[in-house]
Amino acid sequence: MASLVCATCRKLIPPGTSAIRCTVASCNTGRMKLRFCSISCWEKHIPTARHRKANYVIEGESAP
Ligand SMILES: [Zn+2]
Ligand SMILES: [Zn+2]
Repeated sequence: MASLVCATCRKLIPPGTSAIRCTVASCNTGRMKLRFCSISCWEKHIPTARHRKANYVIEGESAP
């Protein structure tokens, strides 16, 4: 399992840790799937990505 890096602060998100995922489709297409270490980092992503309507999901808690 590859470890993730927060798209805002570049902090490592270790496997097994819950990560914040942007639900906007353009952030989930292609190879680059954006992940954030916290909701505040996700909020900083909104103005840079120019999302008009943004939401997030917390993932990483379901995978055993
Ligand atoms: Zn972060
Ligand atoms: Zn986004």
